Order: sequence, then C-alpha cells, then structure tokens
Amino acid sequence: MEVFSIPLRTRFRGIDVREGVLVRGEAGWGEFSPFWDYGDDEAVAWWRAAREAADDGFPAPVRDHVPVNVTIPVVSAARAAALVRASGGCTTAKIKVAEPGEPFAREVERVEAVREALGPEGRIRVDANGAWDVDTALARLPVLDRAAGGLEYVEQPCRSVEGLAEVRRRQHVPVAADESVRRAEDPLAVARAEAADVLVLKVQPLGGVRACLRIVEQTGLPVVVSSALETSVGLAAGVALAAALPELPYACGLATAQLLDGDVVEAPLLPRGGAIPVRRPEPDLARLDAVRADVATRGRWEERAARVRALLGRG
Ligand SMILES: [Mg+2]
Repeated sequence: MEVFSIPLRTRFRGIDVREGVLVRGEAGWGEFSPFWDYGDDEAVAWWRAAREAADDGFPAPVRDHVPVNVTIPVVSAARAAALVRASGGCTTAKIKVAEPGEPFAREVERVEAVREALGPEGRIRVDANGAWDVDTALARLPVLDRAAGGLEYVEQPCRSVEGLAEVRRRQHVPVAADESVRRAEDPLAVARAEAADVLVLKVQPLGGVRACLRIVEQTGLPVVVSSALETSVGLAAGVALAAALPELPYACGLATAQLLDGDVVEAPLLPRGGAIPVRRPEPDLARLDAVRADVATRGRWEERAARVRALLGRG
C-alpha cells in the first residue's frame, strides 16, 4: 500500500493537498482516496472501486478517446478566455457560477468571454454546485443561456432533488445532477423524481466502473463521467468507465490531472486535442517516492483502510 500526498495547484473543495492510497493487485493498481468528509461507511464504496481496479481490471473499451471539458473557475472574463485557449483543445467548457458575493454581471461576462474564446461550435455548461434556490435559478438561467448562445446544461442548480425537478420543469435548459449523486442509491432516486436529464457519475463514490455501468443501465440517463480529483491511477478508472459506455454524448469531467502539482505516473492522463486517450498508466517508482506521505499521514490512511476493509468484511 502506497500513501500519497500531493499539493493542489489551487485550493479546491476546501483542501490544499490531495491524499490517498494506491493498492496493487493481479490486474494493476487502484486508488482509494475518499475525501475526509466521507465517513467509513461511505468510504466502503471507494474501497470497492480501488479493489476492482487492482483485482479485476476494467471492462473492454468501445472507444479509444474520451472527450473532456475544460473547467473555468470563478475568474475574470480575461482569465476565463485564457484558460479555454490553454485547455489542450477542449471544445466544451464548464463554467462555475453562483459564487456567493460575485456580482451576477461578472458571471455573465465570464460566460460571454468563454463563448468568444470557444467559437460558435463549442459547448458551454454551467455548474452552480447547488447554490441557487429555485427562483434564482429560474431568473438567472435564461440570462446565462443567452450569454452562452445556448447552454448545453446546468449542473446542480439547486441543492435538493425536488429543486432540480422543479427547475427542470419550469425552464428549457437541461439539468444535470452532480452533488445529488453521492452514493449508489442516489441515481435511481434522481431518475424516479425526473430531476435530471444527465447524471454526473464518479467511479470511486459509486463503488467502481461496473457499479456505474449498472446505474447507467438502470436509469437509462446519459452520463458525464467526472473525477474525484484523483491521481492518474484513479483517473484511469474514470477513463475506463467513459470508454466502456455504450453512448457518450457529452464531454467528461476528467481533465483534472493538471490541478495536482505532481502525479504518480510518468505520463499523466492529460487531454490532447480535447480528449484523453484511453490507457492505463502504471505508477512510476521515482514519482511514488517523491509524493509519499509523511509517517503520521501514512498511519492515518492505513488505519482508515483497515477500518473500511473490516466494514466490508462484515457487510
Ligand atoms: Mg459539479
């Protein structure tokens, strides 16, 4: 078991350092890296995903490239345009909106600047991370839709599944569920409530590539595969899922390797020409040495993995 600790280039999800564990099995390496706000019970699914990668490997791919989006954080219009141009050819952009304290006009300018930089063929989605109430979503979406020259979808406009369903009923921009899909039972609830047109799926919290493929079968909804901010070992599982899906109508949220200031493989899974090639990089020993966590951190992760394994043994 290897425990890594890699600084983030910019603070994200309230953390500055990404930590986790790499495990090895017959089929290769897997990553177990639940954020610390996930309890042991929830981390069981993350462990299953790591063991699936290590012990069983991945289902056969049906494509050899996975198109990915560039993510535009809450930045100025000029910076947003620069990020699109530096994105490795991404033709889909996901723009963060609904930032508390940011004037709406600045958000609109950011969306306009991204359209300008992407050109008329590019696709634009916005992500509110659940921060709007229904009324705010209904007031702002038509404005953002116009600024974008047509939005592909809005990701998690409101926090609750009921809120998503209402936004979806009352305006025409398609709705994607992200934070509403945290555990394996959630996607079915979202589908039953007719709360989303698109599901954002992450391999680790949902228990592995095959578990995600079952969700796709059960819900019948189109899927955007996203990362949980993994190293390239964990990202490879997301890439494998996206590569195995029968249909892949949307660019995926897997272009996150560059958010980490370091990786465990020699050639990280980065986009080129707007897509990540379907491959499974192996950890590199020198790189593992360079990102190995200190003794105290290693102890915390070894204990966590042991607790989660014990839970799985009982379950
Ligand atoms: Mg999101």
